[in-house]
Formats: sequence, structure tokens, C-alpha cells
Amino acid sequence: MPTPPQNSFRRLLGSLVQWIDSDYSLESPAVVRARPDGVNFVRCIPFIILHLGCLGVIWTGWNWFAVWTAVALYFLRMFAVTGVFHRYFSHKTYSTSRFGQFLLALWTGTTVQRGALWWAYHHRHHHRHSDEPEDAHSPHVHGFWWSHIGWITSKRNFPTDYSQIRDLARYPELVWLNRFDIVVPVVFATSLFLLGRYLETAAPGLGTNGAQLLVWGFFISTTALFHGTASINSFTHLWGRRRFHTTDDSRNSFILSLITLGEGWHNNHHRYQSSTRNGFFWWEIDPTYYGLKLLSWTGFIWGLKPVPQSIYDEAARNAHHDTVHRFSVSSVQDEINTLRRVVPTAAAIALATVGSGEISAQKKAEGPAMHKDVGELTADDRPATTTPAAET
Ligand SMILES: [Zn+2]
Ligand SMILES: [Zn+2]
Repeated sequence: MPTPPQNSFRRLLGSLVQWIDSDYSLESPAVVRARPDGVNFVRCIPFIILHLGCLGVIWTGWNWFAVWTAVALYFLRMFAVTGVFHRYFSHKTYSTSRFGQFLLALWTGTTVQRGALWWAYHHRHHHRHSDEPEDAHSPHVHGFWWSHIGWITSKRNFPTDYSQIRDLARYPELVWLNRFDIVVPVVFATSLFLLGRYLETAAPGLGTNGAQLLVWGFFISTTALFHGTASINSFTHLWGRRRFHTTDDSRNSFILSLITLGEGWHNNHHRYQSSTRNGFFWWEIDPTYYGLKLLSWTGFIWGLKPVPQSIYDEAARNAHHDTVHRFSVSSVQDEINTLRRVVPTAAAIALATVGSGEISAQKKAEGPAMHKDVGELTADDRPATTTPAAET
């Protein structure tokens, strides 16, 4: 049945209003979430603009100051994603004051990954339904591209269901930042532009300007930040090794840990979510944990939660079982297979050798040595030489 024009107009208007007010909706979050997945292009236009903004580099060019600004802002804000969105708001793996929590939420706003409550709500949902049909971004259920980027374009994943995150929703300042999640990104982008304009005259030796700093520091850095973060939803449920036998398909990846400051140890995290550290061992690089440890020494945060001994014991048991399994399945089986091939061959060679030994013993008894120096040969040993003349 075709949709009446006035309903289409209302939906279009609703999507435009949601650019400013994320909580604006004609229906309750529960109703929206019950709908099947579907892309809402109007709502996604700011996200598309973010990607297209990277093309601005064609006009602004580059210099080292702009590039290093982009790199620094990538890692500073990746820390906000992993250390704050994930390890604080989603899992509460450490504590801070209410004001500290507000500052952390402001910081996460610069990542342009919606509000802290939206982020935490969807992440907790992911843990409850990992790699099940209800999981919004499982690559096993929805395919790689949907898990990486498609799921955030879907209408059903726009709302924040505050009833599912009551521990965070009781702070009105956090709800406000979540509702008007466009404010911090706009202020952040504008600040970068103004900083570039200022440096253009105050420090011309840097060779940058407002437009260039906006393109590199905001558009390029933020787009890279998005895909770095999204790789945890897509790649870490596909690539890497599994130390723990969790019910999902989460995996540990060293490479992804470098890109995401320690979030690549995703199988560890799925096994035990309450720990501040995702790299459970010293060789599992986890820069987010090191940064949080440093912050805890300043008193800004406290109560970092460790990995319990029972989890380390489980890891040791799994490592032992895996070793035994590998040994029994590959090494021993390979050796058995090798023996199966070699033993009959060796037996056949042995039998043949025994037979030839008897023959050579017989030959030895029958005649002179086969290998004598020419000088040692007696007249009888020397082969008879015949000339063509003698034959005739
Ligand atoms: Zn998590
Ligand atoms: Zn996961």
C-alpha cells in the first residue's frame, strides 16, 4: 500500500529534526527497535558528509603539522572510545566523580560516535546477544559490511533505550549530551577551523590554515577513527585466535590492538568484561589500560578492576588443553602416518638387503676380491687381453 504524502513528509521532517535532537521520535524506542532493519539515508547525511569532507584535501593540500594533528587526534580520541565509551560507560571498569564523568562524556563527544548513553546501550546489547540474530552488528549474522558500517544506518538502531541503561540515565547532564549529540562535534570542528585560522597569522612557519586543519584534524582523523572503532565490531569476530571458549565468536588480534589501543583482545574481553584491562598478559599490548593506570595516579579516576585469578587459571587450563590437543591431533598423528608409510618400506628394504647379502657372500666364496689395486692383481686375476690380430 503506498504511503500517504503527509506521512512521508512527517517522516522526512522527523529525520531532519533528529539531526539536532537525537531523542525526537514519533514512536517509542521499543516500537522503532521492533521494526526490521532498513537504511535511513536522510538521517545518515551528516555521516556521509563526514566521509565526503575527506576529499577537501584536494583543495587544502597537506603539510606535516596538519598530518600530525590528525594522527594525534586519532589516538587521543581512540582513547576516549576505548577508555571511556567502552571501559567506563559501557562496563564501569573504574570509578570517577560526577564532574569527572561529565568531562569524560564531553571528551567522547569529539569522537562523533553519538552520545555516551547511545554507545553504552548498544554495546551492552551486543554483549547480551553476541553473534545471535538479535546482535545488531554480528558479521556472522548480518555479513561483514553490515557489521562494520551498515548497522548504524538502520532506523532501528538510532534510538537510545534509556530503560536499559538506568545507571547512566539518572544523570541529566549525560542525557542532555546524549540527546544533543551534534553539539560537541560542531564545537570541536569549529575550534579546529579557528585554530588553523589563528596559526595562519600567529605561526605562519607552520604553513597551515583553517580549512586545512578542519580537513585533516576533523574530517580525515574522524573518518579513520570511525573505521578503526568499527573494525572491532567486524574483524574481531572474524580474525584472530580464541583463548577462551565463549559462546560467541570473539577473537584476539595483535594488529587490531595496535589500531584500537588494546581493544583487539576481544576474546579476552568477551570472557571477562569487568576488567579494566583487555590485554590479560604483559605481552598483550593494551595502551588504553596503561593510560588509565596513569590517570589513576592523578586521582582523576580510581578503582581499576583487575582480572581475577580464576580467569588466569582458566586461561592456563585452556592453553594446556590446546597444546595437548594440537600434539595429539597433529604431531602424533603425523608421526603415526609417517610410520605407517615408512615401516613397510623399511621392511621391504631390509628383506632385500638380507637377500643381496647372501648372494654377495656366495660370490665372495666363489672368486677373488672384486676391488683390488691393479698392482695387487696376480696374473690369474688379470683379465685376458685379446687383440684383434690374435682373434684372427
Ligand atoms: Zn565490551
Ligand atoms: Zn564483540
